[in-house]
Amino acid sequence: MDKNNLYRSIPKVDVLLEDADVQAMIERYSRDTVMEAIHIEMDKLRAFIGKSGDEEEAMAQIAMLKSHIEMTVAAMHTPNMRMVVNGTGTVLHTNLGRAPIAREHMERIAALATGYSNLEYNLEEGRRGERYSHFEKLLCKLTGAEAAMAVNNNAAAVMLILSSLAKGGEVVVSRGELVEIGGKFRIPDVMEQSGAALVEVGTTNKTHYSDYEEAITEETKALLKVHTSNYRIVGFTDTVGIDELVPLAKEHGLPVIEDLGSGVLIDLSKYGITYEPTVQDSIRKGADVVCFSGDKLLGGPQAGIIIGRKKYIDKMKKNQLTRALRIDKFTAASLELVLQEYLSEEKAIRNIPVLRMITKPQEEIAREARRLQRILRNAGLPAKIGTAACESQIGGGSLPLERLPSTAVTIKPEKISVPELEERMRHLPVPVIPRTVNDTILLDVRTLQSKEFHLIADQLKELEVLEKTSLIAAR
Ligand SMILES: *Cc1c(COP(=O)(O)O)cnc(C)c1O
Repeated sequence: MDKNNLYRSIPKVDVLLEDADVQAMIERYSRDTVMEAIHIEMDKLRAFIGKSGDEEEAMAQIAMLKSHIEMTVAAMHTPNMRMVVNGTGTVLHTNLGRAPIAREHMERIAALATGYSNLEYNLEEGRRGERYSHFEKLLCKLTGAEAAMAVNNNAAAVMLILSSLAKGGEVVVSRGELVEIGGKFRIPDVMEQSGAALVEVGTTNKTHYSDYEEAITEETKALLKVHTSNYRIVGFTDTVGIDELVPLAKEHGLPVIEDLGSGVLIDLSKYGITYEPTVQDSIRKGADVVCFSGDKLLGGPQAGIIIGRKKYIDKMKKNQLTRALRIDKFTAASLELVLQEYLSEEKAIRNIPVLRMITKPQEEIAREARRLQRILRNAGLPAKIGTAACESQIGGGSLPLERLPSTAVTIKPEKISVPELEERMRHLPVPVIPRTVNDTILLDVRTLQSKEFHLIADQLKELEVLEKTSLIAAR
């Protein structure tokens, strides 16, 4: 058959549109997207015939045209953002959405967000209210601060604080605290955007009281401490604590600002984790304004929480930038719910997924690992399934040196390579993101949820992911 005959074998668009299956697609999706998919698939088919002499394959492709159209149109209507299974063991995985929110919280938020709410409505007085009112009192109670608010994320919080308190003036900060927070975002650059000039003092490893003292001029508007949450400078070091900075600042009538990065409200050392300075500590030591992330160790929604003296917080609430950086109703609702859990430490540990994962006892993880191992072995997969000791990380730029002893289920495929398996797992309907160590796939059980165990096994089995030819063979 010559190429012209092959081209003629492709069904015409108007014939396709009369086809019952295509009609059903139009009914299910939309006429426009089905038309788009038809054109995409027809172009592919013509291009194939144009450059290939393989007549048999061309006929096969023509025969599969309808199912290709269906797959393309289905893909157009499938959301790209999906649930994934986190087998990496990194609890606050920034690329995987950082802190998971408790299901019970999400259900409440769904009820609030699918209707109207009192987000900015004072029900007592029947007039305009404030969106921070839902969690401001809670934050003050938990931290000892006078006032509180929240913006989109902690980077925004730093910018708003400096813009409100130090625009056009100078802010003194130690050279050892000029943090890059990931994705090439650097605290010094964020600060510059606020219109405040940074005055860097000390050296990378040592900053002394006298360095701050000597840097204070007429232009100084604030002293800033940045918690080096995602790195540590160890060895020959010296830093000046909040407790020392506060009297110095007071002497000059300046506020002390502290960017804590991760906002920890409970002493994690009780659970065998390195002590992270708590938010309450900063306030107790006299910091005037403190900011921290909502979705790091706090375990809540993405937000930048700002607490401190009322006169400063009021200034921030009035700043025009606040309108651009404000949180939405989902965040306001979610923050109130997560903060309420902290009214009881025991409830916080139990109900906040991030805290539950970080403090999960080793025996419990080992037990769950054995259960997952059993489920995977029972699936009869062509792979060696075992368990191995491993170390989880907290991630999200929190406690960078912390290693949490954990247990992983190991998968060693018999018919395909480990990189191949890793790639196929990423392409599953519910992608599974593992860690690869020493040419073995590791699923760290700390960050898995037990309800995901059967899902993992079923997907590996049904799609024959571990076979040479798999239904999910990576495209
Ligand atoms: C993570 C971090 C930030 C940024 O917080 P986001 O909520 O991610 O914007 C700022 N400062 C420090 C010290 C941090 O660790």
